[in-house]
Amino acid sequence: MGVAGRPLLELSGVRAAYDGITVLHGVDLAVGAGQVVALLGPNGAGKTTALKAAAGVHPISGGRLLLGGRDVSGVRAGELARAGVCLVPEGRGVFPNLSVRDNLWMMTFTGRTREEIEDAAYTRFPVLGSRRAQHAGTLSGGEQQMLALARGLTTDPAVLLLDELSMGLAPLVVADLYERVADIAREGVAVLVVEQFAAAVLKIADHAAVLARGRIAWQGHPGSSLHAGLSSYYLGSAP
Ligand code: ATP
Repeated sequence: MGVAGRPLLELSGVRAAYDGITVLHGVDLAVGAGQVVALLGPNGAGKTTALKAAAGVHPISGGRLLLGGRDVSGVRAGELARAGVCLVPEGRGVFPNLSVRDNLWMMTFTGRTREEIEDAAYTRFPVLGSRRAQHAGTLSGGEQQMLALARGLTTDPAVLLLDELSMGLAPLVVADLYERVADIAREGVAVLVVEQFAAAVLKIADHAAVLARGRIAWQGHPGSSLHAGLSSYYLGSAP
């Protein structure tokens, strides 16, 4: 947990809608500094919307969003980003026609020099260093995800929001990526990870929540009771 045991990021009774149709019906979630929280659930449950709400990218229509205990409901995405909230969207958000180096150089708006940004990226993900001149679109899926993470980390986030890191990647690659995510959390970052398929992220998660039809159907320590119940949430047979 964050300062004085307070979570760094808190969603409290968060509601969100598209065109007047509510898709989040009062979501409570908390992520502390150094913690990995997994937000799981079937297709269309509202996971991405919850992440977007946490990043200020999608407006909340009820409840509160708190950052370090401060009410930031309604604060714009740019301001939340400056306050340390970083969203790595599904689909990775790298520019395929630019080189790895150019993708990193675009992050100089953060105030860091090109050299600092490259050094940090290649130290954390050495493979990116050996691919620096290559177009990002020619990297493997896992390497693209590393590049997206490296770009996000340039902002020195306090809160990292990751959407479907595992999408389209082989299980071994996913396991390796999640080890890196666990390292990032150990450095004190609060990490909220959305995943449809749970296994890899549960190995590193301190806490898990299952979202079903816009409501938290279960949350707690990712132990055997979660594994036993997951299929029912996904098949829609849970109460
Ligand atoms: P997935 O794994 O498929 O991305 P998800 O759990 O992340 O699912 P969301 O993408 O948050 O779920 O979608 C929640 C609900 O909101 C779904 O019913 C979806 O159809 C709807 N929705 C999402 N984006 C929009 C949009 N831009 N306009 C209208 N409805 C949307």
